[in-house]
Amino acid sequence: MKEKMMRFMAGRNGNDEFNRFLLTVDLILLLISAVFSRGVGRFLTPLVFVLLALTYYRMFSRDLYRRSAENAKYLHKRNQMLARGRVLREQWTQRRDYKFFTCPSCKATLRVPKGRGRIKIVCRKCGNSFTGKS
Ligand SMILES: [Zn+2]
Repeated sequence: MKEKMMRFMAGRNGNDEFNRFLLTVDLILLLISAVFSRGVGRFLTPLVFVLLALTYYRMFSRDLYRRSAENAKYLHKRNQMLARGRVLREQWTQRRDYKFFTCPSCKATLRVPKGRGRIKIVCRKCGNSFTGKS
């Protein structure tokens, strides 16, 4: 049985990080649709099945190139969001002593000491300067 399954899965995508994410979302949607079966659940149940079908399609897919590109895209997005979360947490812990600005020209995050009034802020990355209240 195990050997049969292994032979069936040979050359197929199997489970990757993106599939695990899809399954987690699907499980959450399934729980929500079970709890609110009379309300929003009626609209969620078809979505749960579509997501499940998509997850299985990806798992059994032989187009490894496309599936791995999707997975890479998902991992890239996830890492971006995790990094953004770390930055926001860092800014939150420093909020008493520093104020954070975004450079209008290069979008870099700039940190200035708080309580200095209106100051000229010079971006260290691109040299652009602008005024802000610290
Ligand atoms: Zn800049």
